[in-house]
Amino acid sequence: MTNLLPEMAEIWQQTLNWQPTVQQQAQFQRLYELILKGNRQLNLTRITDPQEFWEKHLWDSLRGIAPLLSASLSPTSPALIDIGTGAGFPGVPVTITVPNCTITLLDSTRKKIAFLDNILAELALINAKTLVGRAEEIGQHPQHRLAYDIALIRAVGAASVCAEYTLPLLKQGGLAIIYRGNWTEDETTALQNAVNQLGGIIESIEQFTTPLTHSIRHCVYLRKVAITPVQFPRAIGIPTQKPL
Ligand code: SAH
Repeated sequence: MTNLLPEMAEIWQQTLNWQPTVQQQAQFQRLYELILKGNRQLNLTRITDPQEFWEKHLWDSLRGIAPLLSASLSPTSPALIDIGTGAGFPGVPVTITVPNCTITLLDSTRKKIAFLDNILAELALINAKTLVGRAEEIGQHPQHRLAYDIALIRAVGAASVCAEYTLPLLKQGGLAIIYRGNWTEDETTALQNAVNQLGGIIESIEQFTTPLTHSIRHCVYLRKVAITPVQFPRAIGIPTQKPL
């Protein structure tokens, strides 16, 4: 059985003004194969069809960082963190695509992190490292708090929870990118309240449709503009139990 990912060069070009190199395409393919294999032991993803994997995992991961793809000529190498990365999304496609960044892949599940260690070795991705932990602890850790230029978070919780997980980790001026499916005005209101308390602002909310199935997606971009008070993030479990 062959599971060949589509290349979609034209769609990449039209939607993100970017195309994978031969090496990046080979890394995407290998990533896909390793996830299919890993799925037999670990419950990594229900998305296994090649087209669907391309759209929901690869394209969606990179759509959120579109601003970085076009800024890839910039000389600085940003420090990124992907919180609740799971099987490595959006973090691993971003690692493959933005080789001048350094990225930390964080998840609270040790098994998933062990799987990712293997992925990074197999794909020879030297610009990423993994971390087992909870966002609530890592956000209070002196080595990680205020340490990142960009924090990515997809499918981890309500937006205000995502704000509490991401903003403490950012440097002043840093950017949090929250990947969402649907989005409502009520969520904007709730998020606004949370972000005010955390030293951030909602910089923009982008709506887009995925290129194959035309599903609606949103990315919420938060900018850290002030100091996050020391009590955030709150203790493990509190952000989800009592969202700001
Ligand atoms: N971001 C991936 C996985 C989403 S599933 C994707 O979009 O496909 C959510 C993941 O977040 C799980 O792997 C879970 O272990 C992790 N997670 C949930 N709460 C967390 C927390 N507080 N700190 C760190 N990881 C967390």
